[in-house]
Amino acid sequence: MARPPVPTSARRPTRQIHVGSVAVGGGAPVSVQSMTTTKTADVEGTLAQIYALANAGADLVRCTCNEEEAAVGLAHMVPRSPVPLIADIHFHQRMALAALEAGVAGLRLNPGNLRKEAEIKQVAQEAKDRGVPIRIGVNAGSLHPKLYERFGGATPEALVESARLELAYFEEVGFEDVKISVKASSVPLMIEAYRLASATFDHPLHLGVTEAGPPPAGLVKGTAGIGTLLAEGIGDTIRYSLTADPVEEVRAGRQLLEALGLRERRGLDLIACPSCGRAEIDVIGVARAAQEALESRQLPIQVAVMGCVVNGPGEAREADIGIAAGRRKGHLFIKGRIVRVVPEEAMVDALVEEAERLVAEGIEARLAAADDGAEAEAEADRRLLLEDRGADANDSRTRVELIHRRVGEDAGAS
Ligand code: SF4
Repeated sequence: MARPPVPTSARRPTRQIHVGSVAVGGGAPVSVQSMTTTKTADVEGTLAQIYALANAGADLVRCTCNEEEAAVGLAHMVPRSPVPLIADIHFHQRMALAALEAGVAGLRLNPGNLRKEAEIKQVAQEAKDRGVPIRIGVNAGSLHPKLYERFGGATPEALVESARLELAYFEEVGFEDVKISVKASSVPLMIEAYRLASATFDHPLHLGVTEAGPPPAGLVKGTAGIGTLLAEGIGDTIRYSLTADPVEEVRAGRQLLEALGLRERRGLDLIACPSCGRAEIDVIGVARAAQEALESRQLPIQVAVMGCVVNGPGEAREADIGIAAGRRKGHLFIKGRIVRVVPEEAMVDALVEEAERLVAEGIEARLAAADDGAEAEAEADRRLLLEDRGADANDSRTRVELIHRRVGEDAGAS
C-alpha cells in the first residue's frame, strides 16, 4: 500500500544524467546498483546474475571490463540485459574504448589507477561522441600517490581534489556527462568526503562505503554511511559493497531507500514487536514463518506480528495488517481494527490469506468484511489477560511506596 514518504532533508539539487534508460540526479528516484562477481567473458553466467540482480530491484548493473574477452562478453550481454550495463575500468584506457565499442550505457573510471592525461581525455572524447556518461570513481584505497603526499593521506579534501582534477580533464574536451563517487572503507571519512563533494560539485553523486566486508558488519557500515548522507539529502545512486552474493547488496539498497521513504515499496515490510514478558507466542518464530510465507508473494504491504493482544494492535495500528496473540488465539487486525480471531496454530495461514485478499480487494473492502463479534472477542481476551497480570505488570504503585519508604528511612538514618 502506498504511503507518503518519510520526510528527510530536502534532496540537494544536482544536474541530471542518463545511464541508458535510467535518469540519475536532478530529482530522479535514487537508483540502486550492484556489480557482478562472475567473469564478464562468461556471458550466460553473468547474464544469469544480472537477471537475479534486476529481479531483486537493481536499476543498474556494473561489470568489470579488464580484458578483451570481457569487452566481447559485454557486447553480447548489452542487448540481452534487463537493465543498463556499466563497464568498470581501472588501468587501461583501451578497455574503456573497447567497452564503448561493446555498447555499454556507462563507464566507471578510477582516477587513481588510470592516470595519463591524454588517455583520460581520449576516453572522455569518445564517451562524449557516443553520449555515454562516466562515473569518476575515486577510492581512498587507490588515491593517486601525489595527492596522498600533498594532503598527508587519504583525506576528504584529497578525495574531492582527485575528482576535481579528473573533471577538469573532461571539461577540456567539453564533456560533463558525469557522476562522482568518493568512496572509502572508513565510514566517517566517506561521510565527510561526500559532504565536501556535495558542496563542491553539482554533478550527481554515487554513494558507497567500499570494501565494507561481509554482513552483518558490512551492512551496518554501508547503512551508516549511505543512510546518513541520504538523510541529509545527499546522493543520487547507491551501491552497498558487501562480501556476499551481490543480490544481498541490492536487497539492502532497496530496503534502505524504502525505509527512508525515497523509493516506493515493492515488497513486504514486516514489523514485529521485540517481545517481552507479556508475549503469548514465540514472536521470533512466528515472524520468521510469516516472512517466509509472505516474502515470495511480493505483497507491497506492511505486516505486523505482535506478541500480545494487550498492546499489539494499538502499537501496530499503522500497519496495513497484523496479528497479535492472546489466550491461545490469533487476533487478526487491519489498520489496528480486529477483523478475525483464529486458533493460535492457524494464525500464520490466516495472516497470509488475509494479506492476499487485502492486496486484491483493498482495505475498505476487507474492513467491511470483518467477522461480527471479532472486536468484542478480542476485547474480552485483552481484559482477561489484563486481569491475569494486571494493567500494571510491574505492580508499580507498591514499588513506588517501597522506594519512598526506603529513601525516607535512609534519609532519617543519615
Ligand atoms: S506487543 Fe505485547 S509482547 Fe510485544 S513487546 Fe509489546 S507488550 Fe510485549
